[in-house]
Amino acid sequence: MDAAEFRRLGHALVDWIASYRETLEERPVMSTVKPGDIRARLPRSAPDQAVGLGDVVALVERDVLPGITHWSHPSFFAYFPSNSSYASVLGDLVCAGLGVQGMSWQTSPAATEIEEAVLDWVRQLVGLSAAWTGVIQDTASTATLGALICARERASGMAQTDRGLQSKAAPLVVYHSAHAHSSVEKAALLAGYGKAHLRPIEVDRAFAMRPEALAAAIVGDRAERLHPCAVVATSGTTNTTAFDPIAAIADICERHKLWLHVDAAMAGTAMVLPECRPLWEGVERADSLVFNPHKWMGPGFDLSAYYCRDPQHLIRVMGTNPAYLRTQQDGEVSNFRDWHIPLGRRFRALKLWFHLLDVGADGVRARIRRDLANAQWLAGEVAATAGWEVIAPVALQTVCIRHVVAGLDEPALTEHNLDISRQINHGGRAYLTPSVVDGRQILRVSIGSERTERRQVEALWTELQAVAAR
Ligand code: PLP
Repeated sequence: MDAAEFRRLGHALVDWIASYRETLEERPVMSTVKPGDIRARLPRSAPDQAVGLGDVVALVERDVLPGITHWSHPSFFAYFPSNSSYASVLGDLVCAGLGVQGMSWQTSPAATEIEEAVLDWVRQLVGLSAAWTGVIQDTASTATLGALICARERASGMAQTDRGLQSKAAPLVVYHSAHAHSSVEKAALLAGYGKAHLRPIEVDRAFAMRPEALAAAIVGDRAERLHPCAVVATSGTTNTTAFDPIAAIADICERHKLWLHVDAAMAGTAMVLPECRPLWEGVERADSLVFNPHKWMGPGFDLSAYYCRDPQHLIRVMGTNPAYLRTQQDGEVSNFRDWHIPLGRRFRALKLWFHLLDVGADGVRARIRRDLANAQWLAGEVAATAGWEVIAPVALQTVCIRHVVAGLDEPALTEHNLDISRQINHGGRAYLTPSVVDGRQILRVSIGSERTERRQVEALWTELQAVAAR
């Protein structure tokens, strides 16, 4: 492809993306292709001779779009919000166009310094003190893995530089809420703690970790000559957006010298609102924290912000120093390759920078306030309607509801609610997530897509009632 062809196709694709966004609402939210449908459209092997992109827009429409579930659709209420603002798309375009690899400061100083600046903006936006230093990672899963590796190394006196965990007599133990995301258990397993040394801690009626149960588990483990090592507290659990009481957990961590990592994957963005910050009170006392601006702030996936209080420890744990990576500026600058697991890194800061320039802090705050108000509206309607229940506190934008029918017991009630979710999702006008809380089948409505206004939430509520009545 030469530059002229690139211009032609690039302009066509930018036009197409804008039209796609403008017409999103007309499309069914969830893809309805069957397994294998998309694969069957592609030849079994790569073409020997160049065929070119031809009419690239037609190609995308024909072979890609049918297999797309539209996360930017204004009636996307599944999982969590994850959009890519126009400005973010342009940032990603520049990132791809530059094609740089920002592993070291020298390999593209702008990639490092814009990331430092923009993550510091974000730190201020969510009200964290200057004691935190940030780095962009791909996902919260990776960041939590990194945090638990740092915790392991602090507790073991950098055992990785010698015989690793194999040399330690007392196994290290990790604690997390029974409602923590599965990525926490996965990270602990990958970091070598072993399933037998994970302690899911029971939750209270609001689905938040019970600190007294945490303290008792730690004391019990010490009595068994185990080595309590780290607690992962969740600010905004996946299922119900419950907030573990960080201040009380931090007291326990300080008393027992445990690493405290906070997983605020989705809810972290809400902290742009001062009125939300009491929800993570005590966060300043954590050792590490992750949240995903790609979930609710507006820049597209993948953009996780990992903040830590002791970057030198992180670098000791993650750093490598082979001759071929050394540069003249080492010691003076941040080489972000030493701040996480991968060596190579894209220039992800661009999309966050462009997005924040485009909407400003006020724009981010307005969007979050809009979504919180929409969630409260829906919860109010559901609570006031006979036959419907809100089954968890609505701290932010996730509303967990279910429909109960007089005389219908389990398992029929579960099947009834699952059926509602199937009818909504296959109907194409909205998309939500069926889930289970406290053994009860629920319909989980996550509000916060960039284009979701009250109108779409009202339409969902009308449709839920109509489907349930059928
Ligand atoms: N933590 C929480 C609380 C989440 O809700 C999620 C995803 O929904 C994750 C972690 C995992 O996020 P990621 O896809 O960035 O690894």
